[in-house]
Amino acid sequence: VRLVFGLAACLVLWTACRTGDPRSSHSAIPPRLGPKLYLRGGAEHDELNARADRLVSMALANGQAYEILEDLCTTAPHRLAGSPGAERAVEWGYDTMRRLGLRNVRREAVMVPRWVRGDIEKLSLVGTAEEFKITALGGSIGTPAAGLAGEVVMVRSFEQLKQLGDKARGKIVFFNRLMNPALLNTFAAYGGAVDQRSRGPIHAARAGGIAAIVRSMTTLINDYPHTGATRYEAGLPKVPAVAISTKGAERLAALLQEGTVSLNLQLSCRTLPDVASANVVGEIVGMKPNEIVLIGGHLDAWDIGQGAHDDGAGIAHCLEAMRLIQVSGLCPKRTIRCVLYMNEENGVRGARAYVQRHKQDLERGTHYAAIESDRGGFRPRGFDSSARDERLAELQRVVEPLRSYHMGAMIKGRHGGVDISFLRPYCRLLFGLVPSSQRYFDFHHSDLDRMEAVNERELALGAAALAYLASVLADE
Ligand SMILES: [Zn+2]
Repeated sequence: VRLVFGLAACLVLWTACRTGDPRSSHSAIPPRLGPKLYLRGGAEHDELNARADRLVSMALANGQAYEILEDLCTTAPHRLAGSPGAERAVEWGYDTMRRLGLRNVRREAVMVPRWVRGDIEKLSLVGTAEEFKITALGGSIGTPAAGLAGEVVMVRSFEQLKQLGDKARGKIVFFNRLMNPALLNTFAAYGGAVDQRSRGPIHAARAGGIAAIVRSMTTLINDYPHTGATRYEAGLPKVPAVAISTKGAERLAALLQEGTVSLNLQLSCRTLPDVASANVVGEIVGMKPNEIVLIGGHLDAWDIGQGAHDDGAGIAHCLEAMRLIQVSGLCPKRTIRCVLYMNEENGVRGARAYVQRHKQDLERGTHYAAIESDRGGFRPRGFDSSARDERLAELQRVVEPLRSYHMGAMIKGRHGGVDISFLRPYCRLLFGLVPSSQRYFDFHHSDLDRMEAVNERELALGAAALAYLASVLADE
């Protein structure tokens, strides 16, 4: 009997959610239960446990996260901002949101940079036929057509480069600092090494260098170079910059042990004028349409591999979470807004444009909470949160129902992710979905970041965890 009533109630809720005015549909249904109620225990406690169970079982048994990701990776495998692939991804995002029955689906315009890799990427040992596997860093200038040649100087830090004084002048600077393998959190290891990639060319230029070669950001030793954004500084010369595979980096370091090494570098990448693109936005409209729980990831990805983990997985998490919330019969009180951000990888223009466009709403405090997924599609562990102390402890209890699935962690974090970090002045509750990080940098920004690297069930669990937290925050 309970089962029949339960199913009937689900059907009523589902129908209510699907029909017109959310206000009228809510008048007939009991109030939804949020964490504050949850803290009181009893029936509310049971409701949240049941909600988590339902979302997880639906995601595992009948989930669509993997199909959504496959669809994106097939439609727009290469979708660096400003490219034709990125425009296909925008259209895909718009169509997919409509297909999933989201409301107020729209593209919000944003101008993005347009960097083009070109066909030529070659690093060779002068006087031999030996070549290294490299990839230009996003934003890099190209070299003269014949390439540029120079002696190599290797450093592990900017400090070491500074101490070389004039010895780097006219040379190719090779930044060979490892990601610290002793750290459990590979994002922390990445954080300790990635300044070589983002600022290497600046330091190389300051030292009088003519090019920058950066060890790829991974703890694996293989022959796949990892790209990523780099920067220049006004007033300093721009020098070409590439990432070398870790195997290549080891080889280069070994050659330097033996004596002087000269390399020739040829790159045909270049920057074109900015072009128009868009963030894609869709909603589940709540009873309080002016209070928003935002979930998001970034639609753009690097132009090698398919961006399956970075951040196709985040996009699939968000879209599948929106679908799960709808079909599970939940009618969140607050509006849940899904934002597929453009240009996280090389400019963050989408995140800036979102804040600019919604400034008035943001200043009125309409954004109650935001959750970002941009750490891959691996086995979820839980979330990190900008909340502190008592609020964090409360949130830890909110995700307790996820604990039996080993994804109920709620740890102290900073801002959830790069895109939603721009909401920080206006929104106090920022969360990041935290999957296991052990394998992320095996794939990140490389040709290996493909569909095959994503596990269907792990991806589905991430979507369920996201759907759970978003729906509970929307009801709080
Ligand atoms: Zn990303």
